Amino acid sequence: MTDAVLQTNGISKSFGALRASRDISIDLKPGEIHAIIGPNGAGKSTLIGQICGTLRPDAGSVRLLGRDVTHQPTRARARAGLGRTFQISSLAMEDTVLQNVLLGALGASGRSWRFFSNVTRDTSLRETAEEALARVGLLDQARMRTAELSHGQRRQLEVAVALTQKPKALVMDEPMAGMGSEGSKLLTGFLDQLRHEAPILLVEHDMDAVFSLADRISVLVYGEVIATGTVDEIRSNAAVKEAYLGDEA
Ligand code: ADP
Ligand code: MG
Repeated sequence: MTDAVLQTNGISKSFGALRASRDISIDLKPGEIHAIIGPNGAGKSTLIGQICGTLRPDAGSVRLLGRDVTHQPTRARARAGLGRTFQISSLAMEDTVLQNVLLGALGASGRSWRFFSNVTRDTSLRETAEEALARVGLLDQARMRTAELSHGQRRQLEVAVALTQKPKALVMDEPMAGMGSEGSKLLTGFLDQLRHEAPILLVEHDMDAVFSLADRISVLVYGEVIATGTVDEIRSNAAVKEAYLGDEA
């Protein structure tokens, strides 16, 4: 467990009487993709919120690169190397593709937003931004308005924004959601490479993607991890079949 890049130890979170996270202990190791699956409302996004710092757990702790970050704000965790993409897009739709990535690069540089007007002329930021766009295959779209991108391209752009922070661990909430099969194949291939640069905690409903990518899978049901294991272990787990996978196993 000591070599984990990211780790939760017994985190719990309730919303009123609803126990959305129940004593969750999971970890993310170097080079791996650890998928979190489970039905809608199981608590996947709530778990991610606590890992990234938008939600404070009622109990338990979160460790990032060996440091306890439970009481650190989101920004501090991002600076320490935690990158994320959101279930609901956080992009500025009226800005260009390049501007969105530049904003990410600017945030990562730790400089003030006041300088944003000069950002497009800052060559090191531009290089970082263009490199990130090239990596996700969006460099040709750099000057397009973000609103003109397809749904799948916006997902790719979110990954590019996350990459500008040079993350040491990535947390992704349903990156394939709403993508066509072509788009999810592309992103699957990209994440497959990316894991060697930054391991990925991947919340995803697309089981083709999960089964082809995951080194380990944890299954979350009613706020509780009911199983963690390899793809084969999870597919043949009776409790998992009953609670979630059914015929997909
Ligand atoms: P998932 O991402 O697995 O679909 P969520 O983590 O979004 O599940 O939600 C888990 C449960 O917690 C759901 O029942 C949801 O309605 C509830 N929930 C999530 N966020 C809040 C909140 N801020 N206040 C009250 N209930 C919430
Ligand atoms: Mg969710």
